[in-house]
Amino acid sequence: MSPKKIIIWYRNDLRLHDHEPFYNAIGEKAQVIPVYCFDLRQFKTTSFGFPKTGKYRAQFLLESVRDLQNSLQQLDSNLVVRQGLPENEIFAIAKKLQVDAVYYHQETTAEELAIENKLKQALSENNIACKSFWSATLYLPEDLPCKVNHIPELFTNFRKQVEKKSGIKKLLPAPKKVFSLPNIEPGKIPTLRDLGVEKPSYDDRAVLKFVGGETAALERLKHYFWDTDCLQKYKETRNGMLGTDYSSKFSAWLAHGCISPRYIYDQVQKYEIERTKNNSTYWLIFELIWRDFFRFICAKHGNKIFYQSGLQGINIPWKQDWKRFDLWREGKTGYPLIDANMQELAATGFMSNRGRQNVGSFLTKNLGIDWRMGAEWFESLLIDYDVCSNWGNWNYTAGVGNDARGFRYFNIPKQSKDYDRKGDYVRHWLPELSLIPGNKVHEPWKLNQEEQKRYGVRLGVDYPCPVVDFFKSVQANEAIYENAVSNTSR
Ligand SMILES: Cc1cc2nc3c(=O)[nH]c(=O)nc-3n(C[C@H](O)[C@H](O)[C@H](O)COP(=O)(O)OP(=O)(O)OC[C@H]3O[C@@H](n4cnc5c(N)ncnc54)[C@H](O)[C@@H]3O)c2cc1C
Repeated sequence: MSPKKIIIWYRNDLRLHDHEPFYNAIGEKAQVIPVYCFDLRQFKTTSFGFPKTGKYRAQFLLESVRDLQNSLQQLDSNLVVRQGLPENEIFAIAKKLQVDAVYYHQETTAEELAIENKLKQALSENNIACKSFWSATLYLPEDLPCKVNHIPELFTNFRKQVEKKSGIKKLLPAPKKVFSLPNIEPGKIPTLRDLGVEKPSYDDRAVLKFVGGETAALERLKHYFWDTDCLQKYKETRNGMLGTDYSSKFSAWLAHGCISPRYIYDQVQKYEIERTKNNSTYWLIFELIWRDFFRFICAKHGNKIFYQSGLQGINIPWKQDWKRFDLWREGKTGYPLIDANMQELAATGFMSNRGRQNVGSFLTKNLGIDWRMGAEWFESLLIDYDVCSNWGNWNYTAGVGNDARGFRYFNIPKQSKDYDRKGDYVRHWLPELSLIPGNKVHEPWKLNQEEQKRYGVRLGVDYPCPVVDFFKSVQANEAIYENAVSNTSR
């Protein structure tokens, strides 16, 4: 009897290790046909007109797909590559090869679910089986203490419950042997130009030269855990902004599925046995639970995460002030911490967690600008864009998220001094401020004429004056927020 034929539809799970659809298909002794389809909708524009997949992420994606293809070729298989609409392309292959089933990892949010549903429908009309799996998170839906639509709204409650009552499933091994492909045109990985994306240039001020793919992901983990022992001081360094190792930088690989959260968990466990177990080793897992939380919150609340009024349904009259938005995204607000972070994002596709919180707070609590414009700008530029983590965090930052507690803002000048004590980070990204010594670099608007001359920076000429008065703008936006909250029926 000839073996079953099963298509593995690759999506944001570009790896071989810990891949449940693949693992199951191999377990069924099936002939596996791995397919990746570049979804051309992902290369159009967002609702505010930004490229949906900007150049940094597009490059990372191509590298990740290429790496997966290499790994499959080493197993005497291959990756079949297509461009178009996955629901059509996968279906066409399924029909042509008369496969028995299509296996894939399910996603969480509307656009991706709509694609899955269309494919499922077409397959079922043709009597082809279709099975979806969930392994994007550390904890799986079936292991949660309650149904996904009953999970707690507050992160702390969610975390405490899963830590107490849920287990984390064992890591699945990567396949060692697979049948070769049936007769099929493998297709070609497109170039950036084919996708209509310009080639990014590498800025050597970047925290890391991110290279897509499972190989680079596992290498990064080896570096962070085993070669440098950075893991054992992660909790103390994770709020940094400058340098390669203040945090794990796993996010881009996690977002593309080049590394699984369970692989990280498994390695942390090993590290705790073989090297050290401390607050830092725990904290990395703690952060991964945040990631789980946002994914389950999206599964629970559906499209609400994208609404202007957010998960809490607060109708704040946000501004769509493009002039100020442009100053924000170009890093020209006159607040060095904001400008440095926004310039880093534009030049590299990455920004630290501390940076993201601050620029998000500034956009919404000081400029009062529609948080969705910020979320879409991040979606466009971030190498590690993950729909649930991005939109979930933006909900939270804008004060409309499920876990948001009233009008909270970041005191930017204070954050700047607390997290960039010597000003090295802002000087790194804003060379025009490089001669301003020590702490003064965080508040250039306080420099007098004589100091401006001495440090070679003329305010309003070489570096902008602040776009808004910090505390007055916070007060004004707080009043708008409170008014909106009091008008929101709960
Ligand atoms: C406004 C805003 C937007 C964001 N958008 C994204 C996004 O699109 N994609 C994304 O992966 N993260 C996003 N984050 C979360 C966080 O900033 C990044 O995960 C982190 O900076 C990535 O760096 P790292 O891998 O070195 O993190 P580490 O500090 O090393 O953390 C380890 C991992 O834990 C997870 N994690 C850490 N913090 C968070 C968090 N707050 N929410 C969810 N997961 C977290 C990530 O998977 C991360 O890789 C956003 C945060 C904010 C405030």
